[in-house]
Amino acid sequence: MNLIITEIKRGLIMAVCTDCNQEMITAKSCNVTDNEFGKRDTRYFDVNERCHDCGIVNKEGNLHHGGCDIERCNRCGGQAISCDCVQES
Ligand SMILES: [Zn+2]
Ligand SMILES: [Zn+2]
Ligand SMILES: [Zn+2]
Repeated sequence: MNLIITEIKRGLIMAVCTDCNQEMITAKSCNVTDNEFGKRDTRYFDVNERCHDCGIVNKEGNLHHGGCDIERCNRCGGQAISCDCVQES
């Protein structure tokens, strides 16, 4: 059994990040370090080895992929997918 099959069984969705164009399951971190408000916050992670939502390795300095529910807005400090600072699809 290889890693990708294991990850799919745990419920992760195979998807390509629209920001960095990497496969979310295999990328250790997003590589888009800035958004329109400046440097993105890199201190928020869940308790798993990899993010339950976007699949990055949970380590300070790594960046969540766009649309991850752990990502914090670096303007208002709220959950990035639910705040109103960035309006994008
Ligand atoms: Zn990404
Ligand atoms: Zn994430
Ligand atoms: Zn915000």
